Amino acid sequence: MSKHPPSVDSLARSIEHVGLPHPLLVDAARQAIAEGNPERAQDIARGIAQCLLVPVINGTGVIAHTNLGRSPVAHTQTARAQNLEFDLSTGQRGSRQSGIGQLIARACGAQAALVVNNNAAAVMLVLAALAHDRDVVVSRGESVEIGGGFRVPEVMEQSGARLVDVGTTNRTRLGDYRKAIERKSNDVALILKVHPSNYRVEGFVEETPVDQLATLGVPVVSDIGSGLLDAACPWLSDGPPAWLNGEPAARQTLAAGADLVTFSGDKLLGGPQSGFIVGRSDLIKTCSEHPLARALRPGGLVLASLHNTMMSYLARTAQSEIPFWRMASISIDALGKRAEAIIQSCGRGRIINCDSLPGAGSAPGISIKSIGITLDGDHLTMLRNCNPAIIARVKDNSTIIDLRTIDPSDDALVAEAFKKIL
Ligand SMILES: *Cc1c(COP(=O)(O)O)cnc(C)c1O
Repeated sequence: MSKHPPSVDSLARSIEHVGLPHPLLVDAARQAIAEGNPERAQDIARGIAQCLLVPVINGTGVIAHTNLGRSPVAHTQTARAQNLEFDLSTGQRGSRQSGIGQLIARACGAQAALVVNNNAAAVMLVLAALAHDRDVVVSRGESVEIGGGFRVPEVMEQSGARLVDVGTTNRTRLGDYRKAIERKSNDVALILKVHPSNYRVEGFVEETPVDQLATLGVPVVSDIGSGLLDAACPWLSDGPPAWLNGEPAARQTLAAGADLVTFSGDKLLGGPQSGFIVGRSDLIKTCSEHPLARALRPGGLVLASLHNTMMSYLARTAQSEIPFWRMASISIDALGKRAEAIIQSCGRGRIINCDSLPGAGSAPGISIKSIGITLDGDHLTMLRNCNPAIIARVKDNSTIIDLRTIDPSDDALVAEAFKKIL
């Protein structure tokens, strides 16, 4: 190296092979020079490249992995215009909600449905539209936090509704709800039931089911969270898997008497990030007319992807077409064959039994038997630096990838990556 540091521009040009646009290479070059270490420019540029949104291979075994975009979704579309808010039958302005709303309502047996950006938005909109300046009764056992800042008391406060806690942390009975509703000083607009999703309380516990709450004469809103449309899973050839046992489903919660049910689109539903409000059409109409509905509405890309997802459910082709269900239902035999083929092709690794998880806070404490490949040593960094990055996990100084969450078309890439491990 010369005594003078290289110019920012020439240093940026020397790391063009990293494949970033010039201004970002300039940033990397500048930072390296400022650190007095121009040789670091390439590493800094690679660091910038790793902050970009890219596809990755999920070998963690967690199907809807919150850090990896929850449910994987395939979606492409051409650059054509879309009848997003245009009614093709009349040639007049239409609603972006009507088509998709119909599909969702049909898939879970609801009168009507509304789509927003996520389930947090769905709960917020329901509370703001139906309970502003009024009371909402929630069991103390369901006044929960569900990761990433969704805390029932805080969502309630933001919506302008007042939280009325009833019962105790472990037990809340019908009488507790009734007392809160009958108290003269209360003005109860809704009962909100929240599925604790990512944790489980065991032992001396009691909750009041929706069918009992529905007898109290106040609209019942059930936030089921995970987005299982129907507990009977008519889209799966073998019916509901054992690991789904106890997971609340939209159709059954409505049938039990809930007036509204809210859930996410990117957990067990297997679609893009979105949130649903389903149930009574008069209440859905009030929600859709609230000013927040406009602020929380999803765009055409998400709605198009969601259309495909819902059509797969209605056509009962979800098991093969929706990646979440394809991964959740692939057999141990099929996984074992893939593992053998990968090991044979790269000449390393051993087959192991492992446990996959549905992920995204669904079915806590429950796992799905799976097959993985293990390699001695910790190779997480090397695998993350592959293109596309492979995300694995380490246990007892062995690297493990679970094949359930890897698309079979990526097996060859996994074998290639393993070959490079010394
Ligand atoms: C996941 C979850 C939420 C938050 O949903 P997002 O789609 O992540 O906004 C809210 N309530 C329950 C019960 C959940 O499980």
